[in-house]
Amino acid sequence: MRPKRWVVKFGTGVLSTKEGSLDLQQMENLTKQLIEIKKRQIDVIVVSSGAIGCGMEILGYEKRPDNIEELQACSTLGQPFLMHYYKKFFSSYGFHVAQILVTYFDLDSVSLRRNIQKLLENLLLKKTVIPIINENDCVSYEEIRFGDNDRLSSHIAVLMNADRLIILSNVAGLMDYSNGEKKLISYVDRIDDRIEKLAEGTRSERSVGGMVTKIEAAKISLSAGIQVQIADGREKDVLVRIYDGEPLGTLFKVNKNERSFGADSVSLP
Ligand code: GLU
Repeated sequence: MRPKRWVVKFGTGVLSTKEGSLDLQQMENLTKQLIEIKKRQIDVIVVSSGAIGCGMEILGYEKRPDNIEELQACSTLGQPFLMHYYKKFFSSYGFHVAQILVTYFDLDSVSLRRNIQKLLENLLLKKTVIPIINENDCVSYEEIRFGDNDRLSSHIAVLMNADRLIILSNVAGLMDYSNGEKKLISYVDRIDDRIEKLAEGTRSERSVGGMVTKIEAAKISLSAGIQVQIADGREKDVLVRIYDGEPLGTLFKVNKNERSFGADSVSLP
């Protein structure tokens, strides 16, 4: 039987300090947790943001640049920096990292999708390899880029027929601010207008997306029958506790009646 398969997305906020530097302690901690998950016979594919954030630090930007040329430049400097640390941390456990950079086009075309699928299937057979995916930001231009890794991670989850998509962020999950109080929504059975309204776009100087793209990602995954969990990446042992079944963050459950497509027929936004 095929081992269970998780796609785990790390947002820029989860990988950075408050000051915007790469948070090495946090990265090491997440690495350790992924190794624990691997030990439980789960195949893991990581989708990692953070390249542009690292590049911003290298180039001395305090605010995320508005223009695509500078974002592209930041990504070229930041991506190897990011991978350097993944390699460092994973290799201390005897694991290798495989970098896969994809563009919108790679997932939009049926033959290119197949190509990525075959590559990832092959990498997953190599038990000491951790595939780490990011958007190929330096060649992705304004009109045709994901821009956020939330939706990218959901397309990868669908493509690879994953059992779960886990999006780790710097928020606890989907929040309900109505009635003047802040309440975490632990379970979502159905993404309806109310849920969409709760997802307010959050923007920080370094990251992109916010809850809106996470809800989009959840919709894509759920339609393919893949449950999605959005949780705080700084919660202690978050991945291991999710494995143990703790209801951390927000769990978007699969509604069997609404499953509408599979790995072969994903329509990109
Ligand atoms: N691909 C971008 C990066 O690595 C980030 C996209 C995102 O934060 O979702 O910096």
